[in-house]
Amino acid sequence: HVYLDARKIEKFEDRFPSITASCLSAGIDPQHELIPVAPAAHYVCGGVKATLDGATSLQGLYVVGEAACTGVHGANRLASNSLTEGVVAGTRVGRALSWKLPEEVSTVDDDVEGALIDSYHRAALRSAMSRYVGVLRTPDGLAAAARILNTLGANASADVVPTRKAFEATNMLTVAIAVVEAAHTREESRGCHRRTDFAEPRTDWMRHLSCRIVDGRMEVSA
Ligand SMILES: Cc1cc2nc3c(=O)[nH]c(=O)nc-3n(C[C@H](O)[C@H](O)[C@H](O)COP(=O)(O)OP(=O)(O)OC[C@H]3O[C@@H](n4cnc5c(N)ncnc54)[C@H](O)[C@@H]3O)c2cc1C
Repeated sequence: HVYLDARKIEKFEDRFPSITASCLSAGIDPQHELIPVAPAAHYVCGGVKATLDGATSLQGLYVVGEAACTGVHGANRLASNSLTEGVVAGTRVGRALSWKLPEEVSTVDDDVEGALIDSYHRAALRSAMSRYVGVLRTPDGLAAAARILNTLGANASADVVPTRKAFEATNMLTVAIAVVEAAHTREESRGCHRRTDFAEPRTDWMRHLSCRIVDGRMEVSA
């Protein structure tokens, strides 16, 4: 980590009460000590492909906010634009649905058995993503992350108790695999995606990548 020197900021406690409280709870007095700062995941760029009215390719499924990819953010999200998107797209989807509800969708197959991973795998998943798929992405790091995620995926079983946490862990794993595959495929640096082996943006990569699960495998296409 690096250090943030807030010692000379006047009335720091009044201006940043939440930061002061979390520093104090960690045993750091920001008025007299340096604050250690480390990068952390702050926003997921990309998401379920959706229009600004929240509509997706699946009838009846609406996605808004950070979970959606509407295209407004490009390769990076400018500060505070997540709020804008949540408010704008949230209002639009509410308005659109108040005019017309989608037609009822009939279930295709009730008997599909879903395999889940146990929620305790979340710690290993988070640690692999933070360590290898963070600010700077290296080929070795992405390969290591892919190996760890594959191992976690191999633990998926229909015998896992279907709790909310197990579903969340399984969804986190699916999203993580998509992020790693897309990061591996995109051989350039653009926006918040930084590859050490491809340091510059490339014109032929000025496009979105789509991830889709086909026959149990993550497929990435341009
Ligand atoms: C540290 C930090 C600082 C940030 N600072 C800024 C900033 O300054 N400006 C800015 O614009 N953006 C900022 N962001 C990003 C912004 O906070 C998020 O992008 C935004 O809150 C996303 O809104 P959302 O409604 O899409 O999702 P969320 O705010 O994540 O809301 C999702 C909700 O769904 C609930 N939920 C989850 N699972 C389930 C379930 N199974 N059933 C029912 N409910 C469920 C969650 O509890 C949550 O309330 C920051 C993010 C972080 C982490």
